[in-house]
Amino acid sequence: MANEFPQDLVDGYGRYLQKGYVRFREQQEQLAIYGQKPEVLVISCCDSRVAPEGVFHAGPGELFVVRNVANLVPPFEQTEGQHGTSAALEYAVRVLKVKHIVVMGHAKCGGVQAFRQNANAPLATGEFIGRWIKLLEPAAIAMACMPVDRLDDPQLAMEYAGVRQSLKNLRTFPFIDQACTDGSLKVHGAWFDIGSGELRVMDPETERFETCPGYEIIAAPQG
Ligand SMILES: [Zn+2]
Repeated sequence: MANEFPQDLVDGYGRYLQKGYVRFREQQEQLAIYGQKPEVLVISCCDSRVAPEGVFHAGPGELFVVRNVANLVPPFEQTEGQHGTSAALEYAVRVLKVKHIVVMGHAKCGGVQAFRQNANAPLATGEFIGRWIKLLEPAAIAMACMPVDRLDDPQLAMEYAGVRQSLKNLRTFPFIDQACTDGSLKVHGAWFDIGSGELRVMDPETERFETCPGYEIIAAPQG
C-alpha cells in the first residue's frame, strides 16, 4: 500500500473479516442500527498486554473502554484543558448510563514504575507523562500510611494504590457520585497479572484484592 500501512494490520484485518466479522455480523448490524448499550465501562492502561476485550472475552458492543497511561482517573475539575478521560466518563455515565465502572490496574505497569522511579526514569519528567502520572501522588501518600507488611512488593502496592485512588477520584464527579448514591451505578477495582492471567477484584469493604473466581482452574497444579 502506498502509505505503508502496516502489513500486520492488513493481515489481521483479513482474519477479522473471515472470523470476527462473520461471527458477529448480525450483532454488528444490529449495533449499527440501534446503537450501543454497553453496561460496563472499563478503565484500563494503554499497555498492549492488558486489552479489556481480551481479558473479559467481550464481543462488539459489550464494553465501553477508556485506556490511558496507568489506568488513572483524574479528579473532577473544571479547569481549561482537554479532559479526555473525564469526557469518556461523562458520556458513559450520562448518555449510555452504564451500570458498572471497572478500574483495572495491572502487573508490571510502566506508568506506575515511572512514577516510582521519579526523576530517574526517562519519561517521569516528560512533558505529558510526568504531569499525568502525578495523579498517583495522593495514592503514594495514602500508601505511606499503610502497615509495612503490605509494602513488601512496592510496585504491586503502588499498582493497587493507584486503582484505589482512581476509585476515590471517580466519586468526585457529581454525576458519578449521584448515580452511585441512587444505586444505578457501581464502581469496582480490579488488577490483572499479564504473565499468569490472574484477575484480582477489590473487596469494597476491606479494599483488598482477591483472586477472581474461575482462576483456580488453570492455577491448580497439572497432572
Ligand atoms: Zn500500565
